[in-house]
Parts: sequence; structure tokens; C-alpha cells
Amino acid sequence: MKLHEYQSKQLFAQHGIPIPRGEVAETPTQARMIAEEFGGPVAVKAQVLVGGRGKAGGIRLAKSPKEAEKHAKAILKLEIRGLPVRKVLIDEAAEIETEIYLGVTNDRTAGSPVMIASAEGGVEIEEIARTQPDKIARSWVDPLIGLHDYQARNLAAAMELPRQHWAEFSRMSHGLFNTFMNSDATLAEINPLVITKQDNLLALDGKIVLDDNALYRHPDLEKLRDLDEEDPAEREARGNGLSYVKLDGSIGCMVNGAGLAMATMDVIKGLGGEPANFLDIGGGADAEKVSAAIQIILADPEVSSMMFNIFGGITRCDEVARGILMALEKVPREVYLVTRLVGTNEELGRQILADAKMDTASSLVEAAKMVVAGKQIGVAK
Ligand code: GDP
Ligand code: MN
Repeated sequence: MKLHEYQSKQLFAQHGIPIPRGEVAETPTQARMIAEEFGGPVAVKAQVLVGGRGKAGGIRLAKSPKEAEKHAKAILKLEIRGLPVRKVLIDEAAEIETEIYLGVTNDRTAGSPVMIASAEGGVEIEEIARTQPDKIARSWVDPLIGLHDYQARNLAAAMELPRQHWAEFSRMSHGLFNTFMNSDATLAEINPLVITKQDNLLALDGKIVLDDNALYRHPDLEKLRDLDEEDPAEREARGNGLSYVKLDGSIGCMVNGAGLAMATMDVIKGLGGEPANFLDIGGGADAEKVSAAIQIILADPEVSSMMFNIFGGITRCDEVARGILMALEKVPREVYLVTRLVGTNEELGRQILADAKMDTASSLVEAAKMVVAGKQIGVAK
């Protein structure tokens, strides 16, 4: 789950990281009133859950409340990378001297969090990694011990940060690391962390991605979820206990188990097809859940065929077959369906589908071949 900039910065502030004074507005009038209250130049910043807002015209500086109102009006009409802007953050404008990058994420290879810093702030870190990899400094942190002061100082030294800022940079590094650990984040990033003309350090932009699997430990953070910003299908799936990710292809996939789902998508792609989604119905799914999954897949207008790949262990194949029939009654769409059912109660499951005149396949590859071919010849069932 991604947090908005304003939410990320509030978490930062709770961990002692200095942030600009700011407030969120949903209308141009509110934006003007906030700017009046602040009484100086402000930055008007689109709150959408994607990066690169600056380049997309989603961030503008305003010298007066009237100008803030005008910018807010324009920004609230924008769509940035397909996402409509519903809120703007009005921040007291900073006078920037230098922009640096500071982030923490998990390094899976090292099996520990890694703190990343670069003197080339303001641009996306992936871009720095590509164009100036030597400008990135890293420090791996033992999660049980926490960040050592010397590690923050090493990062400061590697960036050639002027000495006078080391103490404050170190405090901010600790704050960021603690934000990351305390919220079970997979990413906490300040980009840019600025040195102002007045020689203060400030987190000007913030980004936090929380680990969905740890959210149950953070009911307070779960409340920050912005339902407006989520893909409706993915939200619906989560509500039904399904893992669903929409993709660009036309072959819907319903599989039990994340690994099997990935393998299924690979096979389909290997045979020249394009999966429309990743969907893991999990273990022990009943007919209701199967039916919910199919409805989510079929709500995608790009889907022209579907493949079910079920390896029944705790999941019973007859339950899956019933779920398939249940869903198809609710969503009468002309799509070509292929099912591969093996494992617990497979004979019964196949029989239920055969009675409904639906194709079944005995192996993953056979099923994938059928669905790819079915898609190409456009058979409707
Ligand atoms: P992003 O483009 O989505 O990463 O949004 P950021 O919040 O990082 O803003 C992009 C850029 O806008 C920053 O790197 C700054 O150069 C500029 N910017 C943002 N806020 C301010 C501000 O208060 N004052 C000034 N002068 N520039 C700002
Ligand atoms: Mn940024």
C-alpha cells in the first residue's frame, strides 16, 4: 500500500524529520485560504500515488494566495499517468540550495534493510542508478541493532555533504530508518531532501510503501488507505481475499497458488499468448470465492478467453467447478474457457464441467495451448 506525500510526511514528522508546514486542500478556495494563513509563497502539489508529478505539471509554486487558488484549480483538473488529482498539498515554499536523495528499502539479496543516499536528488533514483551509478552510496543496516551514527556519517561523507550538515543529516537518517521499521514499510524515501538557502535540512517530498502483509499490525496506517486511488478491481479482489494484479493481455487466468499462477502466465506467454492478469485464489477456496474471482476477471473488457489452472490440495476441484458455473450464470459473457483440474475430487470436478459442455485439459501445457489457440480463432462458448 502506497501512502500519499502528505501522509508520508506526517509519519516523517512523527519521527522527528523536519518537513515544511503544509495542509491538504480539495478545492481551489481551500487552497487560497491555506496560502493566506501561511502568508508567503507556497508550493501547490498534486496528491496522486505516482511519481514524476513535477514533470507532469502537478507541482507549481505560487507567490500569492490568489495564484495558489489558480494553480490548485488547474492541478485539480489534471490526470497524472491516468490518475485524476483529487487533493493538493499546500506547502510553505522552500528556497532550495541543494537537492539530495535519501531512502531506505529492503535488499533481498543481503537480507537486510539498506539505506541509500545520493547527492543527485530530485530525480528518480532508478534514473540516477542508470546514468550515474557511482553517485549512489549505500549502507546496510542490521534491523535488530538499527542505524549506527557512523553509517549516516559515511553516507554524508560519500555524498560530500558539507560538514556543518552532518549532525542534522544523521538525525534525519535515524528518523527515516525508524519510520521504515516502525511502519513495516518496504520503502521510505525523501526525494528531494533539501538544504535551504537558510541552511536548514528539510524533507520536501516523501514516499512510503507499506508491506501489505504487515498491515494487520498497523490499524492506524490501514486507515490511511485512499480507496479513491485504488484500482477498483484490485480493491474488490482484496475484499474477497484474492491476490489480483491487472495486466495488459486478453487471457484471464485463475490459479490457486502464487507460484503456480506465475508458472501459468509464463507458459501462456511462452506459447504466444498474453495474460490479462495475475490471480491467486489461495488455498481452500470455495465456490463463492471462485465465483468472485471469475467476475473480477470478466469485468475487464480486454479479456476474451480464460484459463483456470487448479491443483487441488486443500482446494477441492468440485468446489472450483461449481464456482465456475455459478459465476458464468451471473456474468453471461462470450469467452472461451479452458480448465485444468487435477488433485482432490478431480473426477467429480471434470464431470460437473463436462455436463455443462466445457473444455477441460489434463495438463498445464495442453490447457495453455488450447486457450492460446481459442483466443486466436475467437471461439465463443
Ligand atoms: P515529484 O516530481 O513527484 O517527485 O515531486 P517533488 O515533490 O519531488 O517535487 C519536484 C520538484 O519540485 C522538486 O525536486 C523541487 O525542485 C520542486 N519543488 C517542490 N517543492 C518546492 C518548493 O517548496 N520550493 C521550490 N523552490 N521548489 C520546489
Ligand atoms: Mn520527488
